[in-house]
Amino acid sequence: MNLDKLLRNNIKALKPYSSARDEFSGEADVYLDANENPFNKPYNRYPDPLQWAVKEKIASMKAVDPEKIFLGNGSDEPIDIILRAFCEPGIDNMVSIEPTYGMYQVAADINNVEVRKVKLDKEFGFSAQQLLDAANLYTKVIFICSPNNPTANLLDKAEIIKLLTGFDGLVVLDEAYIDFAPESSMLPDLDKYENLIVLQTFSKAWGMAGIRLGMAFAQPEIIRIFNKVKYPYNINMLTQKKALELLDHFQEKDEWVKIIIEERGKMIRKLFKLPFVQVVYPSDANFILVKMNDARGIYEYLTEKKIIVRDRSKIVLCDDCLRITIGSPKENRKLRKALKKLI
Ligand SMILES: *Cc1c(COP(=O)(O)O)cnc(C)c1O
Repeated sequence: MNLDKLLRNNIKALKPYSSARDEFSGEADVYLDANENPFNKPYNRYPDPLQWAVKEKIASMKAVDPEKIFLGNGSDEPIDIILRAFCEPGIDNMVSIEPTYGMYQVAADINNVEVRKVKLDKEFGFSAQQLLDAANLYTKVIFICSPNNPTANLLDKAEIIKLLTGFDGLVVLDEAYIDFAPESSMLPDLDKYENLIVLQTFSKAWGMAGIRLGMAFAQPEIIRIFNKVKYPYNINMLTQKKALELLDHFQEKDEWVKIIIEERGKMIRKLFKLPFVQVVYPSDANFILVKMNDARGIYEYLTEKKIIVRDRSKIVLCDDCLRITIGSPKENRKLRKALKKLI
């Protein structure tokens, strides 16, 4: 992979904004360099633009160098930055699977970047060769998602490796749901594949969707590009603080994940018995995709009962499917009780 050739020329030439905190980042007694207000401590100060304290903690937890970590305003920020840094609007393109997470398409549309989509097979698997065939000289990046949203399944690791070795652009692997999966993350393979970018998030297993914090892991050369393009203070002080607290409580996260996985098993077994349910697809995530007679009607019925699920029935390969997030044991019981009334 030749990063210089992949990068847009304007980004290559870009001289990034240099903030006061970039120019002096040591300890001092008197800070008169950033036009901050001396009152209202500690919120008067700009936050660390590179979030080193948070990255150090993530680094030790995940055994990855801090220089290989980028933190974004949700995973949505690195998704957008990848397209902005590498894809020339109206000229370059990206390749992805279908169906998958809707933000890849939206971010591409905003950046005027074509998305070349390859449909998954009936078991929601993918073929690396088909994605490679969909790529051309202008394909800068391939986006995949494992476990995939909305299909809930892990993608085949051997195929992912074929993509990484067969493509000389970037491969983004979105692991938003990896904590719920029986297979482990590809983070330990980061150094083996220089074109790999792994996305993870605090929004799902960590229970922190509200603080907006996403992670991208890649080689330092790639992370430096992201840092150049991002807003200088993209992660606010409150989010950094809360993330530091939260990272000390990873046992709690593990406990939540365990409960959600147990509940997922229970939900699959019970939904399977309902006569109007056609298929409960296997799940490696914290949600399940369920094919049923009159999915739209059931969606509306549940909404009337103040239970909201996601109607995916108009999505490719998801005809008559609802996507159901696994909630608390009580919430899950409420859903099943409402569905049983339909028999
Ligand atoms: C929920 C989700 C995310 C998380 O996005 P955030 O911006 O970090 O909240 C990322 N990727 C996929 C596939 C998701 O479903």
